[in-house]
Amino acid sequence: MMNDTANETILNIINSQKEFYATGQTRSAAFRIENLKKFKKAIKQYEERISDALNTDLHKSDKEAYLTEISIVNQEIDLHIKKIRRWMKSKWVSTPLHLLPSKSRIYYEPLGVSLIIAPWNYPFQLLMNPLVGVISAGCCAVLKPSPYTPTVASVMENLIKETFPENYISIAQGGRKVNTFLLDQHFDVIFYTGSPAVGKIVMKAASEHLTPVILELGGKSPCIVDKEANIDRAAKRIAWGKTINAGQTCIAPDYVFAHNDIKNKLIERLTFHLRNFYGENIKESKYYPRIVNDKAMERLEKLMKHGDIMFGGDFDATERFIAPTIIDNVKPEYPVMQEEIFGPILPIMTYENINEAIQYINENEKPLAFYYFGKNRKAKEVLAKTTSGGGCINDTLMHITNHKLPFGGVGNSGMGKYHGYQSFLAFSNQRAIVSTPTFIDMPFKYVPFKFFNSIRKII
Ligand code: NAD
Repeated sequence: MMNDTANETILNIINSQKEFYATGQTRSAAFRIENLKKFKKAIKQYEERISDALNTDLHKSDKEAYLTEISIVNQEIDLHIKKIRRWMKSKWVSTPLHLLPSKSRIYYEPLGVSLIIAPWNYPFQLLMNPLVGVISAGCCAVLKPSPYTPTVASVMENLIKETFPENYISIAQGGRKVNTFLLDQHFDVIFYTGSPAVGKIVMKAASEHLTPVILELGGKSPCIVDKEANIDRAAKRIAWGKTINAGQTCIAPDYVFAHNDIKNKLIERLTFHLRNFYGENIKESKYYPRIVNDKAMERLEKLMKHGDIMFGGDFDATERFIAPTIIDNVKPEYPVMQEEIFGPILPIMTYENINEAIQYINENEKPLAFYYFGKNRKAKEVLAKTTSGGGCINDTLMHITNHKLPFGGVGNSGMGKYHGYQSFLAFSNQRAIVSTPTFIDMPFKYVPFKFFNSIRKII
């Protein structure tokens, strides 16, 4: 375990960041680009240590670590370096007739000193990716990693301390107590990734200072497999999306809704692909991650108690291993359908008419991701009748990899978006300024409202 950062240290860091931010040094394009480049270089130097730490804490393979954590941050940095000058330039917008000859402009200014709190499931990416937005928007930041992945947290602390001065970007370690203390402080923006339950605590704390929040939360992301779907492809892509990081992914397909006619074939193909990915002895596979801690193991074990296990079901508490597990004949009232699974368990429910699936999904909380396997035309119909933060048609997870797509939830799955340009916006204030010349002074707005009848025609 890492030592908790002392309250006094946290206060000193925040005060020093406020002072540094007030100097205006973080605002220039040159400063932002220089620090993004430094950040990229540091990640390169630390790549092996990050990868090893991800293996120690979660048994992630070096390839998975690269593809789902390191490369995502690298690409985000490259994009921001390339685009930042354009993004931060103020932009003219058109001015309506009644405001002429004034002009209207949007200025993008940094929000200030930010707090980023990350979970443990992608412990590197989910702390460092928002940080790219912080730097590119010209803010300062206090970062708070999850204590459940302590090796990664310690490597990130070294990386941050070696790369950035504390009064610009700094890291605080600890659990709930440290978070609570951090949340009591007055930040200019809070970026939180984690469960909806803690999201509510964050939002409540933020309301004390009216601090804007970006909440990247979770919940159950449904996956429909319709009868016209390419079942083999669907099975392969679902099996992959559900077992990357052993299902501990916020946008993992949480459960499947399969059409009655294709359910058996789907289960057969899921089984085939899972064996194909990880071999007969999945525990031995170097590509299969582990569950984060004993508490999560106990929780997941309970979720496997109802329904018919068609594949998997094995677990080994000493190794924190749970096999990919397919459960058939699942009913909505089973525990596995009552909470976000966040593990390699895939319950399967069925429908005869797509409206049954749609109704079920709509009666539950708005999901972070939504997956539909079937024909495009029907997919459009289903999308129009449901909602979610994002999703895929005929795939899983992949929408997160396009930085042109805003990433985030809706309702219970979160608020605010990030990635790419959206990350820049998330940490910026879009300041709206009308600039009015003094050579003329239109009389309409002054009492006694001259030309009122003519003005009424245009506004
Ligand atoms: P969590 O909410 O339990 O913890 C997240 C962070 O909050 C941690 O740093 C933790 O120390 C802190 N925390 C926990 N309890 C707290 C409290 N009472 N007061 C203050 N801080 C507290 O979530 P987790 O278990 O680390 O992560 C799993 C959840 O995160 C899932 O719901 C998952 O869907 C979600 N998630 C969302 C995204 C996304 O991008 N939307 C990404 C990853 C995970």
